[in-house]
Amino acid sequence: MASQRSYTIAVLPGDGIGLEVMPPALRCLEAAAARFGFQLEFRSYPWASCTYYLEHGKMLPDDWKAHLQACDAIYFGAVGDPATVPDHISLWGSILTFRREFDQYINLRPCRLIPGVTSPLANREGKPIDFVTVRENTEGEYSSIGGKIFEGTDRETVIQNTVFTRTGVDRVVRYAFELARRRPAKKLTSATKSNGISITMPYWDERVAEIGKEYPEVTVEKYHIDILCAHFVQRPHTFDVVVGSNLFGDILSDLGPACTGTIGIAPSANLNPSANRADRTKEWFPSLFEPVHGSAPDIAGKGIANPIGMIWAGQMMLDYLGEKDAAEAVMRAIESVLATAKDAQMKGGADLLTPDMRGKGTTEGLGSAIEKEIRG
Ligand code: ATP
Ligand code: MG
Repeated sequence: MASQRSYTIAVLPGDGIGLEVMPPALRCLEAAAARFGFQLEFRSYPWASCTYYLEHGKMLPDDWKAHLQACDAIYFGAVGDPATVPDHISLWGSILTFRREFDQYINLRPCRLIPGVTSPLANREGKPIDFVTVRENTEGEYSSIGGKIFEGTDRETVIQNTVFTRTGVDRVVRYAFELARRRPAKKLTSATKSNGISITMPYWDERVAEIGKEYPEVTVEKYHIDILCAHFVQRPHTFDVVVGSNLFGDILSDLGPACTGTIGIAPSANLNPSANRADRTKEWFPSLFEPVHGSAPDIAGKGIANPIGMIWAGQMMLDYLGEKDAAEAVMRAIESVLATAKDAQMKGGADLLTPDMRGKGTTEGLGSAIEKEIRG
């Protein structure tokens, strides 16, 4: 008898709406597991949250790494409660530590306009918006190298360095080319600023051009980050795979999902594609899946957060674990519920769409509808 496929998932709901969108998302994943015949073992942890910090004076327990490395993947809600803990403490003490320690050098965000969701952009040609941003996630402008001198005087000077390593740039650029090669449009857009940033950005351009030689089937274009942002707004349907450094990727990977209606539906994966789950003789670095949105303190506790970003992040996790059919079914369920919900709303029926999608629905109502659709 074939052994049952089984995966251990570290569940870190975090703060604010993270605590609200996690339960329906876990039910959706369980529904997919039941339908496609595999098992998910969820290990929930209260740390990586401001609540934990206020009780323990730190964001993580000393043995956090062992807990997470015992799992196949990490499913992360959202962290942050700026009213009680400054964001730089809560973020650096959790998600940014995970990205670094597990060398999750790819931050991947699909941006798709799903029928049923209204985009803030006029899409004049009626073409679908469907692109992916690939952000370098470990070095670049987020180096933490630098310092301050002459503090408190007129000569006060602050410096922070940008670090591009050959390895760091090449691996993210190559990942983006590989992704572009597998997609129908086979197009890669590189974000740069080599007209103003005169040392690191020309190097980035050089590596993109060099690696591009290995991918003659992929069309390559590059834009300076400022005009690229304008193009995202004016013609988002023309992009396919967009790659950027840590800072430029950060900007684009929030702008991208915003072009597709609401940040509430957007997912994100922090990947270490070199880590091999099957071979744990080397130190194992799990990947992490989370919604794009933060803890949204302004709507926390109201039960109206959109659960789709969390569910879609779970869909990416299933795909990463190799459960392609289950991942496909979760995506179809999200699409089908959104399309039906829009229809029902327009006909004056029950409104499942949450307020960020211009509806009156709830986290629970929308999450349960998707769960039911996955069960089939
Ligand atoms: P981060 O913690 O990633 O820096 P942030 O604190 O800047 O993010 P968010 O917490 O994502 O921002 O909130 C930004 C805005 O989007 C808020 O007005 C929030 O209510 C809204 N928002 C975020 N996520 C959702 C969601 N799932 N459903 C509905 N609205 C959301
Ligand atoms: Mg926040």
